[in-house]
Amino acid sequence: MAVPATTIDCMTSLTPAPAESYYRETMPQQRVHHTPLRGHCETSVCVIGGGFAGLNTALGLVERGVRDVVLVEAGEIGQGASGRNGGFVFGGFSRGEAALLKELGASKSRELYSGTTRAVELIRQRIDRYGIECERSDSGVIWANWFRDPEVLRRRQRLLSEHYGVHWQWLAEDELRRLVRSARYHDALFEPQAFHFHPLKYAAGLAEVLAGTGVAIHEHSPATALRRSGAGWRVTTPDGEVQSAQVVLACGGYLAGLRKEVDAAVMPIATYVMVTEPLHDRMSEVLTTRAAVYDTRFAFDYYRPLADTRLLWGGRISVRDRSPRDVQRLLYRDMLKVFPQLEGVRIDHAWSGLMSYARHQMPQIGRMEDGVWLAQAFGGHGVAPTTFAGELLAAAIAEGDGRWEDLAKYGVVSTFKPAGFAAAQLGYWWAQAKDNWKALREAGG
Ligand SMILES: Cc1cc2nc3c(=O)[nH]c(=O)nc-3n(C[C@H](O)[C@H](O)[C@H](O)COP(=O)(O)OP(=O)(O)OC[C@H]3O[C@@H](n4cnc5c(N)ncnc54)[C@H](O)[C@@H]3O)c2cc1C
Repeated sequence: MAVPATTIDCMTSLTPAPAESYYRETMPQQRVHHTPLRGHCETSVCVIGGGFAGLNTALGLVERGVRDVVLVEAGEIGQGASGRNGGFVFGGFSRGEAALLKELGASKSRELYSGTTRAVELIRQRIDRYGIECERSDSGVIWANWFRDPEVLRRRQRLLSEHYGVHWQWLAEDELRRLVRSARYHDALFEPQAFHFHPLKYAAGLAEVLAGTGVAIHEHSPATALRRSGAGWRVTTPDGEVQSAQVVLACGGYLAGLRKEVDAAVMPIATYVMVTEPLHDRMSEVLTTRAAVYDTRFAFDYYRPLADTRLLWGGRISVRDRSPRDVQRLLYRDMLKVFPQLEGVRIDHAWSGLMSYARHQMPQIGRMEDGVWLAQAFGGHGVAPTTFAGELLAAAIAEGDGRWEDLAKYGVVSTFKPAGFAAAQLGYWWAQAKDNWKALREAGG
């Protein structure tokens, strides 16, 4: 049953505007804050950006014995995509597995993909090893079919199993409906190795681990310039500077403004998240599983149950950042299409975040020039790939490992902004229209 948009607009206009990030609001009071950089310091590696890409590179270095590391973050640790995301931790990249296979061949595509599934395990191990409290839910991820045609699931299941050695389980329609109480879906695949968590708690936890090992972390320290200096590089912030042999740029969609070609290579694209009030027993009217769920459309919904019985709901892609009120209005409508039984539920939080996309939809990981490294463009699928990137870059810097060159095909290429924004928005609308058309045709037939 679809709820008319006018009903929803009317209802949401009567509710108070939602607060912003649920993640921020649920951080422990005693969260460690890291002081801004003041004065001059010298180091072996300076990491710019305190999202998962920067934090994981720093931790990869520490775990390889390099402790002489300084990390500067423009705002607070995890304030970018890393601390705002859906919290899904799963394998793969934004670029699909079929495209990877075609472009790289069997062996390289498998090697890269398995880098991300190893990263899922590494995140799990680090949470345990360092005792990071981040509400991990080891309950897997369901990929639910919006369409009646099961072939899209069958094809992906076969491809993953035959070429990537990964086994996603089939969930028949009646089984899925017992777990996810929506008439919208048909069948589904279940990725058992995946999990979900509170990403901001994890980011803050990583930063605390790093600080505990002697890494200097500086919040509210935007890098404003990067210049060659002697045999290394000088990174300048408003109140200080770092002289470093190596520099890692890890600024995601929150462009650093340090290198034109680096900023030009990514398109910052917004996506939205909201969180309901606690549902208590009503959660079982919606989900009887703890798994996180997303669907098979190009512009898919993604959602998961939170520990305090709220439902976190995300979706949409846009070149526009929106206010919490607008995010709430759009996502509420999406949520009721799937779960009309949630009509009237209050939305307590809504926010948006920026993903960084390259034209080729793969991350850009590797050496830009002597001593300058890059990890960006993880798109909407970045929690495990940023961890993989951190491993590649840390191994390259600490051990001279050359595995990052496996990604050389997906380099730093211009996204042709601002025209690229229009192309991205049009591409999104086109893919969305195709999905709507397919769903309509199926409903008619
Ligand atoms: C709403 C949303 C939902 C998502 N859901 C998921 C999901 O469920 N699962 C998943 O796998 N992926 C998801 N993603 C994608 C994932 O969050 C990202 O791919 C990943 O976090 C990118 O990490 P990052 O470190 O590259 O970038 P960011 O986390 O954006 O970090 C970049 C950091 O660099 C800092 N910075 C920028 N310029 C400077 C400067 N000059 N000096 C110092 N610091 C600077 C920024 O302040 C920022 O903190 C989602 C993304 C969004 C926005």
